[in-house]
Amino acid sequence: MDRNYPAVIETMEYTPEDEILISGQFEKLLDSCNKVATTEDDWDIIRRAFFLAKEAHKGVRRRSGEPYITHPLAVARIVVDEIGLGVKSVVASLLHDVVEDTSYTVEEIEAMFGPKIASMVDGLTKMAGVFTADTSEQAENFRKMLLTLSDDVRVILIKIADRLHNMRTLGSMPPAKQIKITSETIFLFAPLAYRLGLYTIKTELEDLSLKYRFPEQYKEIKQKLQHTEVSRSKFIDTFNEPIRQRLKESGIDFDISGRVKSIYSIWSKMQRKQIPFEEVYDLFAIRIIFRPSPLIPEKSQCWHIYSLITDIYKPKPDRIRDWVNIPKANGYEALHATVMGPQGMWVEVQIRSERMEDVAEKGFAAHWKYKQDSISKDEDEFDKWLKKVREALNSPTENAVDFLDNFRTTLYTTEIVVFTPKGESRKMPMGATALDFAYDIHTNVGNKAIGAKINHKIESIFTPIMSGDQIEIITSDNSHPKPEWIEHVATAKARQSIKNYLKKDRQNNIERGKEILEEKMKEYGVPISARVFRKVLPAYESRTKDEFYSKLGAGLIDLDGIGKVLRENAASKTLKFWTIQLANPLKIFGGGDKKKTQRNIPTVSADEPEFTIAPCCSPIPGDTVIGYKDPESGKIDVHKTSCDELTRLASQHGDRITSVKWSSHKAMSYLSVLEIRGIDRVGILLEITQVITGELNINIREMHIQSHDGIFEGEISVYVMNIDDLNMVIDKVAKVKGVEYARRRKR
Ligand code: MN
Repeated sequence: MDRNYPAVIETMEYTPEDEILISGQFEKLLDSCNKVATTEDDWDIIRRAFFLAKEAHKGVRRRSGEPYITHPLAVARIVVDEIGLGVKSVVASLLHDVVEDTSYTVEEIEAMFGPKIASMVDGLTKMAGVFTADTSEQAENFRKMLLTLSDDVRVILIKIADRLHNMRTLGSMPPAKQIKITSETIFLFAPLAYRLGLYTIKTELEDLSLKYRFPEQYKEIKQKLQHTEVSRSKFIDTFNEPIRQRLKESGIDFDISGRVKSIYSIWSKMQRKQIPFEEVYDLFAIRIIFRPSPLIPEKSQCWHIYSLITDIYKPKPDRIRDWVNIPKANGYEALHATVMGPQGMWVEVQIRSERMEDVAEKGFAAHWKYKQDSISKDEDEFDKWLKKVREALNSPTENAVDFLDNFRTTLYTTEIVVFTPKGESRKMPMGATALDFAYDIHTNVGNKAIGAKINHKIESIFTPIMSGDQIEIITSDNSHPKPEWIEHVATAKARQSIKNYLKKDRQNNIERGKEILEEKMKEYGVPISARVFRKVLPAYESRTKDEFYSKLGAGLIDLDGIGKVLRENAASKTLKFWTIQLANPLKIFGGGDKKKTQRNIPTVSADEPEFTIAPCCSPIPGDTVIGYKDPESGKIDVHKTSCDELTRLASQHGDRITSVKWSSHKAMSYLSVLEIRGIDRVGILLEITQVITGELNINIREMHIQSHDGIFEGEISVYVMNIDDLNMVIDKVAKVKGVEYARRRKR
């Protein structure tokens, strides 16, 4: 078993019922293997692997109570049915936990099954430790795991299958484990599955994560989908009918269906756009899968079908996605169009061939299958991506945690296609700038970039680039990277190259900065003292002397105005907003201070260590919460289960996650922040404060309100006892005339 998913280590003999269950599942695996096993040797090795695994895991049970061997059996079936891998992968899946959890060694596996399978099992065994280790070691291990990508991608695919089965059976895990596992899944495994082209599995991983992290929201969306199903399928039928006729008349062999979006993607959209379910208009897409006629290129057939459909429904011109001519980096090919359907509704139509469908569903594995059949041995999208991963892995300066964050961004981003002056196409992530493009070409081109010609027009290197742009980078030997460049790049490669350069450069700049300041101070006849820095640092927005020196040395700031700074009184900066700071915010609860409110959060733990309310999500009683043990302070930070920061932490330091709950008997107050926006009229802010402090008798800690063009917006921090209090405040404030919304701040 994985150390991650400790089974109940009782060596309870399997009952006859268990044996029936096991052999039933093995039969099913053999059925599935019919499509991949061809020789007697194939069947033999699968059987031997099963018997060895069964013997090795004998008597051990999973947390759910099932015999342990049901897990490798299920993983093997996912590998062959859902990913489309072959016999060796089935065998490696059956054996994937044997070396890790039993007394068998890799050498013994090699003797029994040969070197290839032994090395796969070895890879899987090494990976088993990845998600149990703590701290940055986990990140370091993840990096190692990705290194196996370059050896044998199948190892990662099996690991994804392993994770999928564990997610499917997550219900029997305690909540703290569920958070750790779902965090890793949403943070790493789903993006990885996506990147390897496993759409179906990626979607299921996301849906399952949502189900355990936000059970209510998951259930609500699921129910609403069920309730709207009848009317939706009626609409789809009406929409599809004329297409069906037209395509038939044209002699095309095809299937057409309506696909409902995944619960997770609906949920994400609701989050992103802050809209209710009812306002998500693109709940489904129409998919047309055709069996291509051999004489015409698939590509042309896609466009032919597109033109037949757009004869019936008008297309939205800016919503054509052509991944037929230029596939996505994960190999995905299809033609997507959005057309105006009946009842004024935009409908997305996806057109692809059977082969494209196979690649879309099974990703990498299907891709290899077709690649072997084709004559072309060109470096394709996957190869290019693997090359990039390898490059990133070889970047020695990056620490493991940074690497993980960077790697993750390379997994998830949508791509655009741009062109070099010679017309060569390059894929860049959405949001990339000309500078990213420069670094993509070569580190030296990036380091020396001063401008870009985008579609023959001169632009700044910070200009975001768009799909279809043709870009030429203008360089100069006198140019070099500046710290603010980091804020203008989207790719890991560019960011890392700039950082590398600056690190080297920083020390030089500090020295240079010191010289410049010394010289200037001599002019003024002022000795360099702590007093000087107290004035200079804030004036030049620097936190430390080194930061100031290196900015100065790099030429990012100059000392032209320093005379004024030295004469100025430190605290005379004007504030852009006005602030109400209430003198005694805690009158209800009797003189507690801020520190006190952040402590003593009651939990299940008997010896009551210290707790901190995480400032990133500020949970209050009534929120579902989870604890994170901070290794430095030794305290437990209490986060909302929905907190993004928690997800990030849990994916990297899962073992520090612990269950906590609010105790019901302590009356404490908690800080919570409201966002508010509305029409600025005379007296409205006073009215709002009166509603909160007067009517509701809730204490305000502070208000930051900005007003512009007749609109005010800002934040109000209040002390509340629990979520009911907070909802009451929100309710009342939202009812004040002129208020557009009042809501709890997300983070
Ligand atoms: Mn496993």
